[in-house]
Amino acid sequence: MVRDWWIGDAWSIKDSILQALPTLLPLIAGVSIPDAEVDDCFVGKNAKDGQLTLKEAYNSIAKPRPCVNLRSFPWDIDTPPAHSMIVWRFIHNKLPTDENLRIKGFSFPSLCSLCNTCSESSPHLFFECSFVRKIWNWFAGTLKDNRLIYNLEDCRKIMEQPWCPRAKVVVQASIACIFHQIWTTRNKNRFEDKTASWKTRVGLVNAHAKIVGDNSRRGSNSAMTNFVFHKKFGVQIHPKKPVVAKEVLWSPPLAGWLKCNIDEVVSGNHKLAACGVLCRDHQANHIFSLCDFIGSEAPEVAELMAVILAIEEAKRRNITNLWLETDCIFVVNAFKNRSMVSWKLRSRWLVCWDYSIRINFMVTHI
Ligand SMILES: [Zn+2]
Repeated sequence: MVRDWWIGDAWSIKDSILQALPTLLPLIAGVSIPDAEVDDCFVGKNAKDGQLTLKEAYNSIAKPRPCVNLRSFPWDIDTPPAHSMIVWRFIHNKLPTDENLRIKGFSFPSLCSLCNTCSESSPHLFFECSFVRKIWNWFAGTLKDNRLIYNLEDCRKIMEQPWCPRAKVVVQASIACIFHQIWTTRNKNRFEDKTASWKTRVGLVNAHAKIVGDNSRRGSNSAMTNFVFHKKFGVQIHPKKPVVAKEVLWSPPLAGWLKCNIDEVVSGNHKLAACGVLCRDHQANHIFSLCDFIGSEAPEVAELMAVILAIEEAKRRNITNLWLETDCIFVVNAFKNRSMVSWKLRSRWLVCWDYSIRINFMVTHI
């Protein structure tokens, strides 16, 4: 039992065991054990609350989806489903190109209907053909870094660039529309004997991107790169609504009390999080301040880490009158319902929670 090895506030492990397992102590040194009696339980490693659900179990054994990194693409509310469907079928290799029909047992000579020089396969038809290279090169010329596009991975990298929401809609709609135009041109060539120049197709993509951009409700920002991109497609700029400043006054604690203000920040595509704590007395004198880099985590987790840092420091300094102020209602509720806390933090949280009920403590929401 863990209680046999945890005496007071530290691990107490026999020398014979430490000699046999020299890596054990560094491994468990960062683990805090709460004083309160808590039942042991099994936890699902990837689940936030530790509960192993059917969905978690399925995801752990299912094969990764080919478009797992594309997130909102190709299915986006601003992209027509007919365009998204062509992209989706390409991603899953479900389009009836000559190559795929041969795999199913059909036997016939294959010739690309767009360039009439190569046999037809999905990669050739959508990215390698001399006809479609002109369309992709035109699209690359509208981007800020003129990044050339040779496969779907290149499309993903372009979509993940720091666009404003409206520009991202235009990028996604343009890529989906290019797929749709390529497939439509190929079918008209092959089955209706109708040819079209690549410039005609580019004109249709351009017109479609403008319609999507103008009708999207998503906002744009003041970045010059987004402005230039919008203007290349003739999309109207819809500036963001002005931010309403909210005035917040810091109210001091009573004499003899200390007040900790905590906050977090999450930024970047990978949602990198950090948190900070500022502790002051009733005269607003600085007592201590802390900050920590959390990594790729949700804002609530970063806010909880700030609380843990604040209470652990208060415990270290024997502070017995503590007021914690946060702008996160999740943290306030976590003091009422411990199961809301992620299982990864729960052990440290219980230690802090146990200390908070033994001192004069309050937590408030701004
Ligand atoms: Zn071709």
